[in-house]
Amino acid sequence: MRALRIARLELEDAYEPATHDPFFRYLSWSQFTPEELALLPTVMSIGGDGATYDIGFGALSRLLATRTPVKVMVLNSGVYSNTGGQASTASLTGQDSDLARFGVAHSGKQEDRKELGLIASFHPNVFVVQSSTALQGHFLKHVMEFLTYSDSPAVLDVYTPCQAEHGIADAQASRHGRLAVESRMSPVFVHDPRRGSNIHSWFNLEGNPDADKDWAMGSLEYVDADGAAKLLEYPLTPADFAADESRFKKHFKTLKAGAEALPVHEFIDLPAAAREGKTAFVWSTDDSKHLIRRSVSATIIRLVEERRKYWRTLQYLAGKDVVKLDADHAAELQALQAQYADAVKQRDGAIDSIARGMSQLAASSKAPAGGGGFTASLLPAASAAAPAPAAATNGSAALVSIDPDDQAKCTNCKTCYQDLSEIFEKTRIVVDGAAKEVGRIIPGVLDHITATPELKARIAKVAANCDSEIIR
Ligand code: SF4
Repeated sequence: MRALRIARLELEDAYEPATHDPFFRYLSWSQFTPEELALLPTVMSIGGDGATYDIGFGALSRLLATRTPVKVMVLNSGVYSNTGGQASTASLTGQDSDLARFGVAHSGKQEDRKELGLIASFHPNVFVVQSSTALQGHFLKHVMEFLTYSDSPAVLDVYTPCQAEHGIADAQASRHGRLAVESRMSPVFVHDPRRGSNIHSWFNLEGNPDADKDWAMGSLEYVDADGAAKLLEYPLTPADFAADESRFKKHFKTLKAGAEALPVHEFIDLPAAAREGKTAFVWSTDDSKHLIRRSVSATIIRLVEERRKYWRTLQYLAGKDVVKLDADHAAELQALQAQYADAVKQRDGAIDSIARGMSQLAASSKAPAGGGGFTASLLPAASAAAPAPAAATNGSAALVSIDPDDQAKCTNCKTCYQDLSEIFEKTRIVVDGAAKEVGRIIPGVLDHITATPELKARIAKVAANCDSEIIR
């Protein structure tokens, strides 16, 4: 940078060694312009969760407290994959690890997971992305931001399936990477200190399905008693994710048909006393694809509660509770307006009948027609006092649509629900007797969304990139 600046001064014929050299002798990071910072080659450290969450944590924290634009990428498999499988502080509650296993009496890791992404976000000015390569749109978009952020250090924590240590098939890494996000086991988020002026605008949960709810919906393909392919829709929890991986295998047992049990998301809503004697379960299928239920251990219940608490913390940081309060307030206001309009209508009816009664009384007493102006002064005034409530409109009607007859043509290119997750979501439908993943518009979402020019432009882009051209 010193050479570049001197060259520029030389070209302008303005270089004065006696004046400029003392300044250049102490030129350092903090004086670089954004353009100069952007010219620097990327310096990136790549490590696993063992190296970053545990062994190098103190050094990492020291680095994050500087303004040095170093990139730190963490391949977070939640286990020391390289050295035989010890648990790290990024491992999940209940997880079994190769080098920390003591037979059936041991119920896996007992501590809760450390959240490096959150800790990094609370260092000054650090850009943080937590993502998964299974969400290609989210991953690519934010990796570019991570690589070009030059104000301070940047951290990229990537959910990284480890087939051997997680106990999943080689071809399942992408499916499990996506399920980790959808089940809230490892949500995606971005912390960008350049966005807005308060913490709620720095955190962004875009990319997580149903980000304003505790759980997103999942679907399970099964075969009913008549041999027909069916889909069961249910709230996806971390227990549903864990049930599919060998590292949590000891926590699940097949329940007998007819055994009394309740879904895990309902179970954790019960107070401790009401849980006594009850069993929580997750849905699954047997080898012939028939529906079965699998009981869930107390450790997995703890895991689900701990993951929900973490997810709610992220929702709070991203201002989701503020958005919800605003929506609740708008709904309350609408209900009050309807109540007011109803009361005014009833009052008009009452005044009409009083006025009619008074007119009849006046006629029967032979009073002069229209005398006293009594009815005349009441009726119009009452009518004027009854303004019709303004119809709420946010201009989003017919903003975007998919013809239900076209839904089956979707090729599941993922563009819509990955690039515009506020409007689109992934679901499964049965087509010709087999389950198929498709993109769709989140039911009811258009009733609450405001059609800003920015949103319209994003919809147009998604529609243009829709592989099956069914988005209108
Ligand atoms: S963009 Fe079109 S083809 Fe791709 S998932 Fe969405 S609806 Fe399906």
